[in-house]
Amino acid sequence: MQKKRKRKIRRLRVGNLILLMSVAVLVLAMIAGGTIYLFHLIQPGFLRSQNGREAEALRGEVRESEIAVFYPDEESSAGWTDIARQQAEVLFNQLQSTLNQQTEQTSLRVKADYRTHLENGRYCSVIYTIEDDQTQQSQPAGGYVIDMTTLTLVDGSTAFDQAGLQWISAQFRNAMKNREDMKEVAYTLPFIEASAWDSGNFSAFTLEEGTLKFTFRPGVMSEQGLQWELPVSELGEHFLLDAGQSPLPENKVRIAPRTVDPNRPMVALTFDDGPHPTNTVQILEVLQRYDSAATFFMQGYRVEKYPETTLMVINSGSEAASHSYSHPKLTKLSGDSLAFQLDKTTQLVEELTDWQVTIRLFRPPYGLVNDQVRQTSAYPLIMWSIDTLDWKTRDPQQTVDNTLSEVKDGSIVLLHDIHAETVEAVRQLVPALIEQGYQLVTVDEMMQAKGVTLSAGQKVFSPYDIK
Ligand code: ZN
Repeated sequence: MQKKRKRKIRRLRVGNLILLMSVAVLVLAMIAGGTIYLFHLIQPGFLRSQNGREAEALRGEVRESEIAVFYPDEESSAGWTDIARQQAEVLFNQLQSTLNQQTEQTSLRVKADYRTHLENGRYCSVIYTIEDDQTQQSQPAGGYVIDMTTLTLVDGSTAFDQAGLQWISAQFRNAMKNREDMKEVAYTLPFIEASAWDSGNFSAFTLEEGTLKFTFRPGVMSEQGLQWELPVSELGEHFLLDAGQSPLPENKVRIAPRTVDPNRPMVALTFDDGPHPTNTVQILEVLQRYDSAATFFMQGYRVEKYPETTLMVINSGSEAASHSYSHPKLTKLSGDSLAFQLDKTTQLVEELTDWQVTIRLFRPPYGLVNDQVRQTSAYPLIMWSIDTLDWKTRDPQQTVDNTLSEVKDGSIVLLHDIHAETVEAVRQLVPALIEQGYQLVTVDEMMQAKGVTLSAGQKVFSPYDIK
């Protein structure tokens, strides 16, 4: 019995020992684990990625501050880690120069971390936020889109066609003119140049739930950088990615909104005798590039001949106006032939635009007006305050000089879009006027901004000179 018991006890002791050792190992493991856990909590772990992607980061120091920019380098980003790293470098350099420009000596820890979003099973957006250890607030920092089918970066030239870029540019400029913190800079030449419809100006964006989020890095537009959103649905087929968007509804007229500041000086450029299938188009390109519009006094027979060009004038945000049907001296006409010359172009534009656009202004050929014309006309008769003589000199420099020497707030400038030399003049004239602080507006916009209501038969030389 005793022997048996002894053995039992011994066996128990061995069992105890094993149990004790197990407990000890467990406790040690817990202590070790806890230490590692605590170590992470206590250590300056701020410069870690939220998702623990510690290894894939660009790190550096600027004076007393530290920077970390994380980027995808994992299985899901296989094939485009080079792009991811390049994009991280751009952000890294931006953070470096921002910290370098700070005047006060600070010791910040700044990190740019990201999340990803897959749109329509094909487009992976890498979306960055910047955070520092003092404010702990996340600031959006843009990102980029990878086409997972081709493993390439999506940019403005692959995502939008020309009409899409023009729409984006116009919407962006209009939005900035209506934003309190941007409305001063939005009228300046550097801002206007940086927001023109070049694909490079709209290449930094992400795509999430049908919304494009554009980022504009710190620079001429804004010291802090800028974010702006546009729904993909506004672009329809002008958005070239296969992101599940529907085509735009069939509509010949689609005009982006324009904002005119009544407190800033303005000039109305006016173009007579067109439309012209190349010269008018080139003038429109210059106007759109510089966030500008003009009034085109068209001949009806040319509206019939060039309906596409006429629609381009309207859709660009410029104004379609009438310059008679075939340019006769109205003072030599009466009755039906006078009425025809006064009204036909309006009918043509109304039919062309499915009655969505009408004509409000008439310019008599040669500026010739008599009492009968004034009494017959349903429109105010728009004259001019600056005659550039572009049709006569055919000298672009002369046309520019004639305008700049006389221009002032409220000027109405007479030009002709049927001459190639006038296109050349416009290329110089438009940026020069903007640099002098002028908005380039339509005659209709100018009258509205100046609070002037025009009546039929009035002779209008400027908002301040109406007879
Ligand atoms: Zn004319």
